[in-house]
Amino acid sequence: MNARWTLILLALVFCPIGVALDIGVAACDITPDVNAHVVPLAGYGAREGEPATGIHDRLHAKVLFFRDDDTQAALITADLRSITPEFTRQIAEKTRHLGVVSENLLVCASHTHAGPAMYPEPFWQFQFGAYDPAIVDAMTTSVAAALEVAVDNAAPARVGFGETMLEGFTRNRRWEYDTAAREAAGEKPFVHPRLWVMRVDDLEGTPRAILVNFATHPTIAGADNMDVSAEWPGVLQRELERMHPVVIALYTNGAEGDQAPVGAKGEDDFARIEDFGSRLAGRVQSLADQITTVPGLSVSALQIHPRLPEIKFSDSVQAGEYAHLLDSALDALPRTADLRMLRIGGTVLIGLPGEPLGPVGLAVESAVLEVGFEDAIVLGLASDYVGYIVNEEEYAHGGYEVDLRSYYGPGLGDFFVKEVRSAVEGLR
Ligand SMILES: [Zn+2]
Repeated sequence: MNARWTLILLALVFCPIGVALDIGVAACDITPDVNAHVVPLAGYGAREGEPATGIHDRLHAKVLFFRDDDTQAALITADLRSITPEFTRQIAEKTRHLGVVSENLLVCASHTHAGPAMYPEPFWQFQFGAYDPAIVDAMTTSVAAALEVAVDNAAPARVGFGETMLEGFTRNRRWEYDTAAREAAGEKPFVHPRLWVMRVDDLEGTPRAILVNFATHPTIAGADNMDVSAEWPGVLQRELERMHPVVIALYTNGAEGDQAPVGAKGEDDFARIEDFGSRLAGRVQSLADQITTVPGLSVSALQIHPRLPEIKFSDSVQAGEYAHLLDSALDALPRTADLRMLRIGGTVLIGLPGEPLGPVGLAVESAVLEVGFEDAIVLGLASDYVGYIVNEEEYAHGGYEVDLRSYYGPGLGDFFVKEVRSAVEGLR
């Protein structure tokens, strides 16, 4: 055999034919213009819909675009409290010419409590204020342009994953409800501080993007902050991008419904936000450095719309200070779940449309592993908002997440576990 044929044969052996994964990355600014528009901040009802008074730090959206031989899909992360169907619909409409089908857009919010209110329904406007549709239009125009950039710069990519358990950054904030009964039953506060990182490299191994998932609330600043801010996820992303100037950093929240940040040090809220976000960035950085990436993974995406359980308000909601809002809640709450998943190699990203408690997230991930996938990670605050996604045990303990923010009864956690388990096969 001559040298030329030997080379061709080697190429055939070492380069699997027909599998190519291209990834594109982009970032954009989605900060609302608080001078030209009235911009109430979503997150704390105690602000009573008052408009933002300024901008502490800018809000961004980030795009990871995936293309293999069969599928085009995008993961979009945004410094927002939660995502509305209208937000995704506008992005899809403004990018229709790119050929990414709208079902393959998975849009996730960081859950910052200092992003713009953007909810069309009176029920949410009672709590977070009315908004000017022009700010949503401006944000989705920016995101659509970023998706176009990501499609344009898509190139063969290597992908790898890493994770570690990160002590000292999160606590269970629901332990304060029904504590005596919990202790009598021998319960322990649930914490699953999984720091999960996906690194995207070019074919030479130079990093292009770092996607972070860590589940806890961005609530270091309270309702008294009236300035726009991406909170600690903004510092996290900014610091990662400062450490790696060519990298775009993306952040997704996880099963954060019962998780609150701890350990942040500083003189005031924004100093504590800096401390928390930059220390987290340091931990992400050392984890990301250890990741080995591989080329040629395949991707697939899936969206289903199962009918949600019947709406059921807790007894305390029906008797409480928000009882007069229940009719408008019935008008606002979705009847079907917008449930989207994205598979990258053997790893499944599951976007849940609300705030899953930690045990629910773990049960959803376990269900995906039982079906035979290598790994699974829940992304909270994706696509839509059904409120807190609580399991039966926690529902019985009551508290804010149950009494004010659970709308579908005690079975909602199990509902999502069951729906994900039966749908995830479709990603093979
Ligand atoms: Zn929340």
